Amino acid sequence: MKIINQHYINSHFVKSNGNEVEDLINPTTKKLIGRVTLGNEKDVQTAIAAAKEAFKLFSKTTIEERSNMLQRLHDAIMDKAEILAQASVEEYGSPASASYGRTVFAAKTFLFTKEALQEFEFERSMGKTKVIMEPLGVIGAITPWNANYTHICGKIAPAIATGCTIVVKPSEISALQTKLLMECINEANIPAGVINIVNGSGAVVGAEMTRHPDIAKISFTGSTNVGKLISKGAVDTLKRLALELGGKSPNIILEDANFNEAIPMAVSIGFSNTGQACHAGTRLIVPENRLEEVKKLIKEAVKSMKLGNPVEEDTILGPLVSQKQFDTVQRYIKIAIDEGAELVTGGLGHPEGFEDGYFVKPTVFANVTNDMTIAREEIFGPVLSIITYKTEEQAIEIANDTIYGLAAYVSSSNLEKAKNIASKIVAGRVLINKGVHDDPYAPFGGFKQSGIGRDSGIYGLEEHVEPKAILSYKE
Ligand code: NAD
Repeated sequence: MKIINQHYINSHFVKSNGNEVEDLINPTTKKLIGRVTLGNEKDVQTAIAAAKEAFKLFSKTTIEERSNMLQRLHDAIMDKAEILAQASVEEYGSPASASYGRTVFAAKTFLFTKEALQEFEFERSMGKTKVIMEPLGVIGAITPWNANYTHICGKIAPAIATGCTIVVKPSEISALQTKLLMECINEANIPAGVINIVNGSGAVVGAEMTRHPDIAKISFTGSTNVGKLISKGAVDTLKRLALELGGKSPNIILEDANFNEAIPMAVSIGFSNTGQACHAGTRLIVPENRLEEVKKLIKEAVKSMKLGNPVEEDTILGPLVSQKQFDTVQRYIKIAIDEGAELVTGGLGHPEGFEDGYFVKPTVFANVTNDMTIAREEIFGPVLSIITYKTEEQAIEIANDTIYGLAAYVSSSNLEKAKNIASKIVAGRVLINKGVHDDPYAPFGGFKQSGIGRDSGIYGLEEHVEPKAILSYKE
């Protein structure tokens, strides 16, 4: 069993002052694999003080110096990518088939950001005025358990690129993965105090970061409810906020799509990361007259996805991350049945033979109307709702009838038509005829209650600087 009782502050591994301990459970077996000592206010205050001090020099570093740091962070993570990927299989239940790729993507974030940095204009001219894009200061990053490395690296990279320093509070249930990442960061030889990582709960460490006057901005990825709490907590110090929140993303299949491709893809999009993905396309919007064909193709597609032990290379669907997540998914499946949705496949309980872990049955409902609970609320598990439409206008209406606006998907054999539909969807990202978010420079973030601000590439950098205008700069 692994004991995690240190934070990473000022380039040192320092013992936690907290005395609350959280168990770390392997979701495949429900066995105890570690314990993390959660930090307290004092720990995070120390980290913020270190970041504040480091900012004085770090904010003056050159683009070249910071580019080299981004490269070193990438290299240090790649050196341990295998071990990191294994930890995410063990602690998070992420199938091995996806874990390594996701870890490499996390490392590559530093390279993508390095490229964006070369193009970023820190100095701009507006007539006689010069506008200098100054680094914001100390960034407070708060991240979720799904794709721990991706989210932490996604927060650190733009901070480093722009000359900001950072304090990260990762999810408390990802502490084994975080410990390995801390070691990589330590190897990268970044100036002391520039990157600090504090283990702790949201209610204690996260809340202290949110209210602390020396944090300039909270960069948060997590649920919409916690995003709202953070917004309220940050108001007294008028912090800048970037909130990457939940979703209930629509996937519109147009009549002219190739259903043999679009429907299996829709299942992959809905069940991405065993359904634990913010951008999962969980509302499948299909032509009413094709429903029976869709149901048949869905059943075949689900059957072909191997559910199993995440260490096995061909596993696509692993367990959910925790008992809490398991219970949430069960609750929603029950609500859907009670509200009259038709079970196409899956249902309540564990899949047969997988009673020892937090495995759920990949579940698809038909006859879902957009006002049902499962069509409105984010479930964060492999539960897909099929909703039918009569006209394309109605499909768009259904797609936009949600409090969320993170991602959307459109399938059609007519690109112009798909583009037209995409232009009418209210979402931060629309993917045409594909399900993989593979453009690392495209902005990522949500409309409506899916968030505020954008991550990735130039857009992510823009969120870490504040314009200072110097008037009469030129004659
Ligand atoms: P969560 O909101 O419960 O927790 C996220 C983080 O916030 C954790 O580190 C947690 O400790 C912290 N936190 C909790 N309460 C807090 C408080 N009062 N003050 C400050 N911090 C607090 O989310 P989760 O269960 O870890 O992750 C799943 C959620 O994240 C889903 O809703 C999913 O859609 C969302 N998510 C969004 C994106 C995106 O980019 N839009 C990406 C991944 C996940």
